[in-house]
Amino acid sequence: MVLHEAARRRSIAVISHPDAGKSTLTEALALHAKAIETAGAVHGKGDRAGVVSDWMEMEQERGISITSAALQLTYGDVIINLLDTPGHADFSEDTYRVLTAVDAAVMLLDSAKGLEPQTLKLFEVCRRRGVPVITLINKWDRPGKEALELCDELSERIDLPPTPLNWPIGEAGRFLGLLDIPTGDVHTYERAPGGAKIAAETRIPAAAAREQFGGDYADAADGAGLLDAPDVASFLAGRTTPLLFGAALANIGVRQLLDTIVELAPAPSARPDLRGDGAAERAAVRELDAPFSGFVFKMQAGMDKKHRDHVAFVRVCSGRFERGMTVTHERSGRPFATKYALQVFGRDRETIEEAFPGDVVGLVNASVLAVGDSLFEPDGPAVRFPPMPAFAPEHFALARVKDPGQSKKFRKGIAQLQQEGVVQILVSELRGDATPILAAVGPLQFEVATHRMEHEFGAPVVLEHLDLSVARLVSAEDAPVVAQAAGTEIVRRADGTLLALFRDVWRMRSVQRDRPGISLEPLIADG
Ligand code: GDP
Repeated sequence: MVLHEAARRRSIAVISHPDAGKSTLTEALALHAKAIETAGAVHGKGDRAGVVSDWMEMEQERGISITSAALQLTYGDVIINLLDTPGHADFSEDTYRVLTAVDAAVMLLDSAKGLEPQTLKLFEVCRRRGVPVITLINKWDRPGKEALELCDELSERIDLPPTPLNWPIGEAGRFLGLLDIPTGDVHTYERAPGGAKIAAETRIPAAAAREQFGGDYADAADGAGLLDAPDVASFLAGRTTPLLFGAALANIGVRQLLDTIVELAPAPSARPDLRGDGAAERAAVRELDAPFSGFVFKMQAGMDKKHRDHVAFVRVCSGRFERGMTVTHERSGRPFATKYALQVFGRDRETIEEAFPGDVVGLVNASVLAVGDSLFEPDGPAVRFPPMPAFAPEHFALARVKDPGQSKKFRKGIAQLQQEGVVQILVSELRGDATPILAAVGPLQFEVATHRMEHEFGAPVVLEHLDLSVARLVSAEDAPVVAQAAGTEIVRRADGTLLALFRDVWRMRSVQRDRPGISLEPLIADG
């Protein structure tokens, strides 16, 4: 049963630059998959009423989405787990972690903009992790770049040749329909006002379409003909990307995207297990039909203001999860009860009774869990999934408790933020652990941290921004040598790793030049 359930699951995330249309696409996918009746019920953006995912006041003030969870859609016989990723670049660390929990990604591009910085950064993470990528070029209903120009960008800039599944008839802004490449048929759409309903779609068979669209049909066929046909093996290996054109707002091409996810995106498969046979270099895998196991890829606190709860989002990797089961928390070796298990998207919570590989379960009262922790059914063999990648922070600030009377709360809060991965906590031997250094990929992470220290932990903090921007891994032998250079700091991460921090990349290079024997390794996702 587990293998059957796993085989019909697809767990994906959408990666895109803000404003490319991720929220709109999420709504459109949900609408097509009939998860919701009217578009607008997933992300309450603008004046569209709905289930807002902006649960924190701060998010509402800023109109951005900090949290992420998963939306489960049923499409035919397939269950699609759509993992939400925050759009704002400052929370890309969160997005990176979500990418550890999916089996494929949809890269969403704005037809007028092509590859944008945030898309590039996230794509790089997919490439490193071997996550296959399907590309959707969005907003084809309005003027933009040429289809072939966008294809060139993918091939040239990121070495990811696109293999089109459909091709637009008419250039961006003069959209007439979508040419379905395998059949030669053309799909035309009647725009539904505001995208609130599925656009009526008409399929015109190849012969009739060729006649009806004349030169535009020939142009589309010629354009698409310049590129290779989709190839499953190279897509799964991350070397090519199946390409679709569409317009999420008008629900155009959305059904094709769902079909592509079903047909091409991989179902969950066995995952590396560092404990398997006890030897990291011979890391075994956790088979899908082994007893339940999963890992925490995301923590979220205070979703419910009245309860101040902590929800740990777990990606199920093997076996059947059943609410109420007691699992083992690998890091502590302690039992963890899963009485409160939820499926969470935005403000919507539903109690979940069972889950299978590829699914996401939200565990409530999970303050003992940390991002990256593994959980497993105690009856079976123990499992440890690979640790969460730690990303290169670019912003650093010293944190001090405002009122020394609150130092106990301060320490508790800092430990919790660390566990959830809200910010990275670094400790310098010189400064001591009473004044930890908060490190972040984006400065908004600091705002979340200070907000929570004050409102949730009752220990307001003062931040002193440090004039540092580059972090490198350094060995214990090299650390004292590097520390001699002016303007550098040596700090320790919670996992024991030593980092050398520099004011800027030039100073880092000069340290490296003056001390040729030392090695300064970049961290993941280093700009
Ligand atoms: P996100 O920041 O990636 O979540 O982007 P949104 O989904 O909020 O979309 C950003 C803007 O682009 C909004 O004003 C959308 O209405 C608009 N948009 C999204 N998809 C389309 C599309 O297919 N066509 C057009 N014309 N606009 C779109």
